[in-house]
Parts: sequence; C-alpha cells; structure tokens
Amino acid sequence: LFEGPWDFVWASTKIDDLPPMVGQEIAFAGRSNVGKSSLINALTRRNALARTSHTPGRTQQLNFFRQVEHEEPVGAGSQGSKRSREKPVPVYSLHAPTIVDMPGYGYAAVGKEKVAAWTRLIHDYLRGRANLMRVYVLIDARHGIKDVDGAVLETLDKAAVSYQVVLTKGDALKPADQTFMTEATFDEIKRRPAAFPEVLLTSSETGAGMPEFRAAIGRVLAE
Ligand code: GDP
Repeated sequence: LFEGPWDFVWASTKIDDLPPMVGQEIAFAGRSNVGKSSLINALTRRNALARTSHTPGRTQQLNFFRQVEHEEPVGAGSQGSKRSREKPVPVYSLHAPTIVDMPGYGYAAVGKEKVAAWTRLIHDYLRGRANLMRVYVLIDARHGIKDVDGAVLETLDKAAVSYQVVLTKGDALKPADQTFMTEATFDEIKRRPAAFPEVLLTSSETGAGMPEFRAAIGRVLAE
C-alpha cells in the first residue's frame, strides 16, 4: 500500500482551498514535535516528504500527499520534439490513500488567534469530508494524552470522525513502560464515541509497531 514514491501535491490554509475528494483519505494530527513528520516519512519510506515542524511555511496548513503510480510523458500521442523534453507528469494512485498532514497544535509560542484559526480549519475540513476514512491522533508515548490532545479528541468525537490514537517515540520507553502507557492510554479513550478501540505504539526511529500500523490502515481502507 505504501510502496512507491510519494509526492506533496497540495496545501490548504482555508476551507475553500481544499483539493477535490478523490479516493480515500487518512489524516494525521498531533501536537507540534510529537513526531508526526517522522512517522509520515517512515510510513511512506520517504525521508523528507513531511518536513519537520520547524520548517516555516508548512505549519498552519493541511498538507496533502499522494502516491505516484507512474509518470506520463507530456504530450504523449502528439508530435513535436520540443514537448518531449518537458518533465513527465505524475499519475497518482487511486489505491493508496491520500495522506493528510494536519497542522501541529499545542505549540506554546502560538497565540490564541492561531489556535482559533487551527480549530476553524480543522472543523471545516472534518465537516463533510466524506472520503476521510480515519484520523490518526499521535500522542507522545512519554507524555500520554494532555489537555490539548483531549480537546482535539473532543472535536473529533463531536464531528463523529473516526479516529485512532497512535503513540509515538515508543523507543524512548522501557518495554514495561511501553505496555503500561499503551494500556493507560487505552483506558482513557475506550469510552470515547468516535475512538477506534485500540491504541498502537510505534517508533519511527526503530520501526517498532510500523507493520502493525500499516496493517491497521490497510484494514480501514478495505472496510
Ligand atoms: P513533528 O513536529 O510532529 O512533525 O515532529 P518531528 O517528526 O519533526 O519530530 C520531532 C522530534 O522528535 C525530532 O527531534 C525527532 O528526532 C524526534 N522523534 C521523532 N520520532 C521519534 C521516534 O520514533 N523516537 C524518538 N526517540 N524520537 C523521535
């Protein structure tokens, strides 16, 4: 599902700027620095697809990534030597989901206005995005669910958008703590209406939990 090259195809800062709903979509949300870029890069096996949150410009927008199925030469079928020198255009896969990188939240230096803008964009995006199959809410395994995360889960519950909690940076914990954190987090989300009743523990650094994560996404898309 994730084999093959991925492209950054679109960025939206406002709701009238969303790409058309084509195929299935999965989205990733989490606090700034939770390891969201690293996880998206590990998933797609591309080193710099999702840039780290410290790259200016891409922070307060929804970024859309699609898998390249093949490339088509420009002007195929027509003659003209000039055209054939142009770069081929990518044709995107309809089998792999579009990956949506949501802006990181909870960054301390961000003011109330930015938070309000984030919330509005997210609300607008979630509302009526019929091809959005699931939102993966990333939580730092060392810290667990904080208040800002709880507010996001609340938003997803209210919008009735199916989501799954994924712990990141699992390698930073000892095995016993990994188990404890996974179970404690599950206890916190198990009564939430839109939460998928399973918490995954991952590490982009070691690749732990990645096969399980890929399999979980595969099952969602096959539903
Ligand atoms: P983002 O802001 O959520 O996109 O987070 P990044 O992917 O940029 O990662 C933030 C920081 O966490 C960086 O310093 C990464 O090196 C670190 N990090 C990301 N993933 C892991 C992981 O799996 N294990 C550990 N130990 N650190 C990680």
